[in-house]
Amino acid sequence: MRAVVTGGAGFLGSNLCDKLLAEGWHVLALDNFITGAKGNLSHLAKSKKFKFQKADVSKPLKVAGKVGYVLHFASPASPPDYLKHPIATMMVGSVGTQNALELALAKKAKFFLASTSECYGDPEVSPQHEEYWGHVNPIGPRGVYDEAKRFSEAMTMAYHRYYKLDTHIVRIFNTYGPRMRLHDGRALPNFVYQALSGKPLTIYGDGLQTRSFCYVDDLIDGIYRLMMSDEHLPTNVGNPQEITILEFAERIRKHFDHAPPIVFKPLPQDDPKRRCPDITKARRILKWEPKVGLDEGLKLTLAYFKEVFRKR
Ligand code: UDP
Repeated sequence: MRAVVTGGAGFLGSNLCDKLLAEGWHVLALDNFITGAKGNLSHLAKSKKFKFQKADVSKPLKVAGKVGYVLHFASPASPPDYLKHPIATMMVGSVGTQNALELALAKKAKFFLASTSECYGDPEVSPQHEEYWGHVNPIGPRGVYDEAKRFSEAMTMAYHRYYKLDTHIVRIFNTYGPRMRLHDGRALPNFVYQALSGKPLTIYGDGLQTRSFCYVDDLIDGIYRLMMSDEHLPTNVGNPQEITILEFAERIRKHFDHAPPIVFKPLPQDDPKRRCPDITKARRILKWEPKVGLDEGLKLTLAYFKEVFRKR
């Protein structure tokens, strides 16, 4: 029971390492810190079952010893991050995915791909079910992430069909919780940072675009169930509670006594208008659904961010 987690120092990667260790796995985390943080793993420094190796998974990978599972979570994932690192994002989704697949093949290990709701692009159907092929602008600013992840899904299915590799693919919808970076540029950390520092909360566009926010513990539970399942086709994991960004900002403001006002800024190009997972499949095959409501999840996340803000 030894797993390799690429992107192990990231928000989701580090939460996944904790879950794997709690389930009795030995874990080797790989990260090049392009968007990950050492601090996300510092609490594991003394664990005998945990090891870290600094590595860029877009370069050929060398991992010693037996491996039972390779979980590929390495990638910038916040829109400002992948706009800042467009080539690295494309490389880790393409070459990085192949390197991780090759590692699984060489070690006779299972493989798990962290994919994304961005595969659906700016969707014409809502909620999004797994059979929907998506509506992606390949050459727009978000194309570097969306197309890299679509390629990574195609590559994973190719290794599954050609080499009979035991592969699994999760499509992750918006997720929040402890270990998100305060300055990663996504809606939740932006609003929280702005509220904590007395700046107006920036809504892009009219704020009527929707997202569906899943608390990280729920997401990791769904991921663990999927990795232990026999399902090979992509599976949505996310919270189906859909909310406009304007309402989301209001819900965050309610957690502050003196929250600053809201200001409107231009909508970024190709910003999806709706995003909501259809989790019928996850409910059926994984017996999974999210348990943490938005206000409870926000309370836990705000406690974390307040601490980070205080120590900065
Ligand atoms: N957004 C916003 N203000 C911000 C940051 C984001 O209104 O300060 C909007 C963004 O345009 C998008 C939604 O919030 O419609 C979610 O953005 P995020 O970057 O969190 O993730 P996405 O779902 O777009 O990948």
